[in-house]
Amino acid sequence: MALMTGAQYIESLRKLNTRVYMFGEKIENWVDHPMIRPSINCVAMTYELAQDPQYEDLMTAKSHLTGEKINRFSNIHQSTEDLKNKVKMQRLLGQKTASCFQRCVGMDAFNAVYSTTFEIDEKYGTDYFERFKKFLIMVQNEDLVVDGAMTDPKGDRSRAPHAQDDPDLFLRVKEVREDGIVVRGAKCHQTGSINSHWHIVMPTIAMGEDDKDYAVCFACPSDAEGLFMVYGRQSCDTRKLEEGGGMDVGNPKFGGQEALVVFDDVFIPNEYVFMNGEYDFAGMLVERFAGFHRQSYGGCKVGVGDVVIGAAALAAEYNGVEKASAVKDKLIEMTHLNETLYSCGIACSAEGHPTKSGSYIIDLLLANVCKQNITRFPYEIVRLAEDIAGGLMVTMPSNVDFNSDLVVGREGETIGDFCHKFFVGNGKCDTMDRMKVFRFLENICLGAAAVGYRTESLHGAGSPQAQRIMIQRQGNIQGKKQLVKDIVGIEE
Ligand code: SF4
Ligand code: FE
Repeated sequence: MALMTGAQYIESLRKLNTRVYMFGEKIENWVDHPMIRPSINCVAMTYELAQDPQYEDLMTAKSHLTGEKINRFSNIHQSTEDLKNKVKMQRLLGQKTASCFQRCVGMDAFNAVYSTTFEIDEKYGTDYFERFKKFLIMVQNEDLVVDGAMTDPKGDRSRAPHAQDDPDLFLRVKEVREDGIVVRGAKCHQTGSINSHWHIVMPTIAMGEDDKDYAVCFACPSDAEGLFMVYGRQSCDTRKLEEGGGMDVGNPKFGGQEALVVFDDVFIPNEYVFMNGEYDFAGMLVERFAGFHRQSYGGCKVGVGDVVIGAAALAAEYNGVEKASAVKDKLIEMTHLNETLYSCGIACSAEGHPTKSGSYIIDLLLANVCKQNITRFPYEIVRLAEDIAGGLMVTMPSNVDFNSDLVVGREGETIGDFCHKFFVGNGKCDTMDRMKVFRFLENICLGAAAVGYRTESLHGAGSPQAQRIMIQRQGNIQGKKQLVKDIVGIEE
């Protein structure tokens, strides 16, 4: 099948019977729900850009399994060139949406599961790799979105999965049948889960023998029986429901999405099971998925950063201060920080290497350094953007007030007239354009999109400490001590 268009993707979602709950109710038509639709539009961009000849090299690839042209989001990286193109594609999508476009979690899961199942089979003589390849060919041929689901609720963080009071706090195999397994548990803050045709579920931490039932990886359709999702709230999300809200939404078209995904005894046929009890490979799968997703942030957050910098520069222009040297310097600093993040994304890709399966993986140390910087720099970029924009981005009246014809002035002026009069900027720009830029910045700095640009920069793909552990492990301090010994002549 040919690659889907954005419109075909949206139509394909209507055919699913995905169970979605929000505000205590089942949402029947979630595809057109005003709070959900912007996140669907975002994923649709991954299809639309793949149809555009100018982005073909970045957005598509040739399947190493079928030789067919596929969307890069379902590609298994075959070279460092592929790894770099992945990051560039993500930057492009961040620039076009100013949001999290969600499809990367599946791509990162494919690459982690592909290389890990190969090595499980090598040790245990299982046939997970062949099963997974079959599944992936279907995904590639049908151009599907797959959610990569890793994070369990985790309960008491000091205890292992099997040692929790409630055994369901980590997703587990509840029952083994001849033809498959029954799984129970949940995955938290799942990016794009509702907008995905399928899910790939992976363990969330390295595990020991006692956690065998929790060492499970599988794929299942998003509308499988027993599976449902509870939509996650975002700051200012109900602005999308307001009548006449208009620019108050900030980003009129796009947004991200997270949900709680519950597996309330879901049957998984054997053909979709890619790990079942091989607990000694849980750590490898987690490390690889996390590594790929930490690389991803060196693309997507940089693309959004480009838009933040653009919005700050526009705000400065509309405020009439774009020539001030302090403003120019802040924009330089923002650019410096943003390009440093991009350098990390490209560097961990350029230093990638083949896995035993033949697919390419990033340099794990550099990918973790990339993500560690992501936990900091977007916060500074946002601080500078707020600094340049000024306080109006959080104190200005609503869109309704700007459009209000309620007469309140002595000479018959309306509320709208006063808003326009007092919020004029450099005299050259349209006052409403100025306000739109402020609302857009508000959305990214502390509104709904701050989920993707701020908190997700901190906790997505693993919280800062997770990267520090990896940096410690990969940092080769012993080797560095030896360098000194060699130079100054210490022999032990
Ligand atoms: Fe993709 Fe970035 Fe969203 Fe992760 S946070 S799914 S890498 S856009
Ligand atoms: Fe993420």
